[in-house]
Amino acid sequence: MQIPDIIIAVDGYSSTGKSTFAKLVASEFSFLYLDSGALYRGVTLYAQEHGIISEDNSIDEPALRQALATLDLHFEDCGGGSHLFIGDRCVEKEIRTLGVSSQVSPISAVGFVREFVDSKLHEAGSRKRVIMDGRDIGTTVFPEAEVKVFITATPEVRARRRFDELNAKGENPVLEDVMKNLIERDYIDSHREVSPLRRADDAFVLDNSDMTLKEEVVWIKGLIQGRFGILE
Ligand code: C5P
Repeated sequence: MQIPDIIIAVDGYSSTGKSTFAKLVASEFSFLYLDSGALYRGVTLYAQEHGIISEDNSIDEPALRQALATLDLHFEDCGGGSHLFIGDRCVEKEIRTLGVSSQVSPISAVGFVREFVDSKLHEAGSRKRVIMDGRDIGTTVFPEAEVKVFITATPEVRARRRFDELNAKGENPVLEDVMKNLIERDYIDSHREVSPLRRADDAFVLDNSDMTLKEEVVWIKGLIQGRFGILE
């Protein structure tokens, strides 16, 4: 199937499998995959390690602003996929812990943090043939994206998926903590002033609670075929 030069925006609630879906679509379509959440997580990890955010989530905004002026946050392809780096340090594993998850939403509600991340996303998106996942890609980052998908799933399914993922990484999470974190993040992400999480009016909703990944890919292929009049 010949896919046109488009941008695909994938947004939705926490742990709906956006990145797993987007990664697979990227490899099927030979598109670049960009994980915007990883960039917010990278900023959060940096802030935690440098005492910029405290346990009660209060943020030293002047220090954060100053840090972002020189922070080298980028993706590198390490063979096993694209990983996030701070300078020459791979932080892919550290940014996925529950510790980072618990403070990423307050950090990503800061306007100048969003500008920092958005500039990186715009740079990559200018080349098209890209699929990005996040919370505001179809509404704010690329409102002109040709295809927008908004993914949802029940909170139980989402908590179970994230729980299994953390378990597989040896984190020994408690299911209730994982569920609490998802609900908290969704609340902060949907209620912040800057670029809140919401479905773009022209986004197609994908509820994947009872779908396999393979079915999700079939779904988007069908959507793109219909949209652009492409024959298999
Ligand atoms: O997608 P992921 O769960 O890794 O994102 C982590 C957090 O980053 C989200 O809970 C949200 O607070 C923030 N985020 C955002 N806007 C995006 C992507 C992520 O605010 N486009």
